[in-house]
Amino acid sequence: MIHILENIDKWTCEYKKCGARCCTPGIQLTIADIKRISLLGHSFDDFMEFDETDKVFRIKGVDGSCYFRGKKLECTIRDNEPIVCRLLPFKITEVSYSDEPIMSLKPVVDCPGEGHGKKIDKKKIEADASLFLHENQKFIRDIKKKGKKGVLEAL
Ligand code: SF4
Repeated sequence: MIHILENIDKWTCEYKKCGARCCTPGIQLTIADIKRISLLGHSFDDFMEFDETDKVFRIKGVDGSCYFRGKKLECTIRDNEPIVCRLLPFKITEVSYSDEPIMSLKPVVDCPGEGHGKKIDKKKIEADASLFLHENQKFIRDIKKKGKKGVLEAL
C-alpha cells in the first residue's frame, strides 16, 4: 500500500537551482536497478556498496554526491536511474514489510521545482513505488537465502 502523505500539483526538476540536492550518496538499489545499471558497463564494485545495517545495496558517494551525478550536476544515467530517483519529487519516509508492504512518501522540502512544469502523475508514482516494494521484498528474501555474493552472481 502506498501513502502519499502530501500531494503537490506540478513539478519539474530544477537541479541546477538547488545543486542537485536529492542526488546524495546512499540511494537504495533494487535488483532490477543493479542489473540495468551494470548493463551500461559499470562494474558493481565501482558504483555500489552493501549496507550491512539495512542489508541492502546503495549507490556510493563521490565528493559528497551520488556516484552518477555529473560535473554539470546532471544525472549521467538518466533513463536508467534507480526506481527511488523516479519517485522524485517524493522521498520515502517509511517502508514496512510486515503483513502487507507499506510505503509512505512526502514531497522534498523547499524544492525550487515545486509548482512548475508538468502535472504530477500520481498513478505513475504509485506504480513505481509498488514496483520498488515488490522488487525489494524479493531482494531482501534472496539476500537472506543466497547472501550478497550469491545474489550478484545470479544476475
Ligand atoms: S542516480 Fe542519477 S538521479 Fe539518482 S541520485 Fe544519482 S545522479 Fe541523482
